[in-house]
Amino acid sequence: MNFKNFVGNDSIKKQLLPLFLQNKISHAIILVGEKGLGKKTFAKIVAQRLICSSVTDNNPCENCLNCKKIENNVHPDVIYPEKSGTLQSYSIATIRKIRLDAYIAPNEANKKIYIFSNIDNMGIPAQNALLKILEEPPKNVFFILTCISLSNILPTVCSRVQQFSLDRVDILDLQNYLLKRYPEKSEENLKKIAEISQGNIGLANDLLASADFEALIYETKKIILALCSAKEFDLIEAVGKISENRKDFLIGLDFLLNIFRESMILSVNEDFDGDNVCVKRISETFSTKQILNLLDVISKTKNYIDKNVNMSILSTYFASSVFSEAYRKN
Ligand SMILES: [Zn+2]
Repeated sequence: MNFKNFVGNDSIKKQLLPLFLQNKISHAIILVGEKGLGKKTFAKIVAQRLICSSVTDNNPCENCLNCKKIENNVHPDVIYPEKSGTLQSYSIATIRKIRLDAYIAPNEANKKIYIFSNIDNMGIPAQNALLKILEEPPKNVFFILTCISLSNILPTVCSRVQQFSLDRVDILDLQNYLLKRYPEKSEENLKKIAEISQGNIGLANDLLASADFEALIYETKKIILALCSAKEFDLIEAVGKISENRKDFLIGLDFLLNIFRESMILSVNEDFDGDNVCVKRISETFSTKQILNLLDVISKTKNYIDKNVNMSILSTYFASSVFSEAYRKN
């Protein structure tokens, strides 16, 4: 892939691409954006652009040895440092190793590139260790960092890196991308998926990889209807089904988040075109404040999934929390 066929994201391309031509790109950049926007893919394209042997039209050629090796994650000078620990992040020991390694000349390319992905979980001591290399970088060494948000990154680290944000893409652009990439799938399904994923390409691809997307959406709708009619047992049963595996649970929760967000809009703006049955049922059954609280429970549960909490505990937690949030007596 190159910058041209990376879907959407015109603003980051407009900011970043001229820097290559003007030789103004910093030795360290950070790509910020939610999960699923293609930060890792974009980092790879930047690495290719930096060491491609025949850059064409300010884009990596994708055909030279450097580009091909980067594409296949086997380039000796494009290094993905090892993650460790329960949070799967970069330890101080790893950063110290890199500080030594960075002074060794590259093997094949004219630069050495370190790609640190999702540094959100990186501890403060490790960030401080990283800061030392960022402050005095060895020659011809380049760092590409990615994170979901800058909120957990030390300001001193932020000040040493050029920041760029990736965005969701237009739903129409996503639809066109999906139609091209999955010509064998039904157009109607792809449109639905583009809508549910709200321009998040990673989520759309996950949905399509999910073994039985239709069944998952069916169970998720059952959750909503059971919740709206106060049928606690049906609710527990449907939650149990979507939480059989982590990935499906995440997709189901994303679907719920979208539906509840639309209900929220409908509850404050009657003109909103919420033609979905579930959206209408929610806004008829619950107050705006309740919908907000339910949105909060869904988001919290999503965060717990990311923290590897046991799935059956999480399933029980989710079912009982949404139910009590919806029907607790004040
Ligand atoms: Zn190339």
